[in-house]
Amino acid sequence: MAETPAVDDFQAACEQAGVHTVEVATPDTLGHLRGKRVPVERYFHRIADHGLHIADAIFVFDMQNDLADNPYINMDAGFLDCHLVPDHSSARVFSHRPGYALVFADTFDPHDDPHPVAPRNVLANQIERCRRAGLDPVVATELEFYLCKPGWEPVQDHIQYSSLTDAMDVEDCLHDMRAALLGAGLEVESSNPEYGPGQVEINIEYADAMTCADNTVLFKSIVKQVAVQHGLRATFIPKLWTDQSGSGMHVHTSLADADGGANAFASSDGRPNQIMEHWVAGLIEHAPALTLLGAPNVNGAKRIRPYTFVPTHIHWGLDNRSVMCRCICEAGSSGNRVEFRSAGADANPHAIIAAILAAGLDGIERELALPPMSEGDMYADPGDTEPLPSDLPGAIAAFRGSSLAEMLGEEFSTTFLLLAEHELALATENSPHPDEVNDWERARYAEHC
Ligand code: GLU
Ligand code: MG
Repeated sequence: MAETPAVDDFQAACEQAGVHTVEVATPDTLGHLRGKRVPVERYFHRIADHGLHIADAIFVFDMQNDLADNPYINMDAGFLDCHLVPDHSSARVFSHRPGYALVFADTFDPHDDPHPVAPRNVLANQIERCRRAGLDPVVATELEFYLCKPGWEPVQDHIQYSSLTDAMDVEDCLHDMRAALLGAGLEVESSNPEYGPGQVEINIEYADAMTCADNTVLFKSIVKQVAVQHGLRATFIPKLWTDQSGSGMHVHTSLADADGGANAFASSDGRPNQIMEHWVAGLIEHAPALTLLGAPNVNGAKRIRPYTFVPTHIHWGLDNRSVMCRCICEAGSSGNRVEFRSAGADANPHAIIAAILAAGLDGIERELALPPMSEGDMYADPGDTEPLPSDLPGAIAAFRGSSLAEMLGEEFSTTFLLLAEHELALATENSPHPDEVNDWERARYAEHC
């Protein structure tokens, strides 16, 4: 794990880079990065130790910043301030916006308790549960997005998957994205053209669960900002065009043994070892409810269709891209892990990772057994595996009252559910077709997902 730089290290880094502004940040309920910009002198004089305040309304914002109904955060309660306290282990200086640095904050309510709706706190609780069980989660997310012209037309009209010859016209922009991500401390592994016109994937190395979630929110923000610097746009809408590939957020997890740090999945050999077996069984048990965290609006649900490399049913397998849980089980490998392939690129990283940890740990604690492994084309023959919800009402029904919702905490889960219901009500009026993505969806989701 990375060393956690103290505030002094951050101050030295800011001085060296000529930083004038520090951004104090927290993801909202839908995963949008929010916060405040502070002049650097004031930051180190006051905010670094004392934090700052922001309206709790950010946690009930919908896609366009309308306020969804909520029993805890509302006009009667007064839309209270919450307290953002910098977590200096997350601080970094940007290279793509010289003069700016960013630090993620922990969010506290007016009683000075961790704010129960703040997604970073929801994730911190699940990491803590894993650590109490002697396991330290290690996570990588794999994000896809479309690079577009302003107006959301794709930058290309053809597909050339992983071509190193094609698409040189956008390579300047992609190079700057990789450099900007590296500049912000994200370990870029590689990028490649994906299977859609203008679709791109950039892979980042694994990290501890909180760092991975923070990095993933930043990834989206940085990729969008660099696209704009090039006169382009990047979108993480899960389904931009009805007939083209969707954009996913695959989430890879493994567990480092709290004593020694070895990968607890390492002894899996051609099939999951016992602890991986329980972990995957937990993901399978909670898969219907997990769907809402991975597809929180109508658009995401339209990504879940056969022959799209998105799982339509609840199953697991080895190196098979049609299954929901793809298990990497190489003899004695420290790289053994479980890839959860269901979530869309618009998933809130802190929330989906929290939900995966909650589900997997539940599998370990209850020693859940795995159903038979799936092999071959799981779209052609899903056998007797259960289908995943493939529309928003189905995903909402699966999450409401679920034990997953309970594990994530009543305040957070109620807030998440109410936002999804709010999106559903709007979509029922404006985008009623079960499969087709229309202009209303693109206008609502392309820019902000
Ligand atoms: N684009 C697919 C998705 O929406 C994933 C393709 C892949 O396997 O990389 O999840
Ligand atoms: Mg991909």
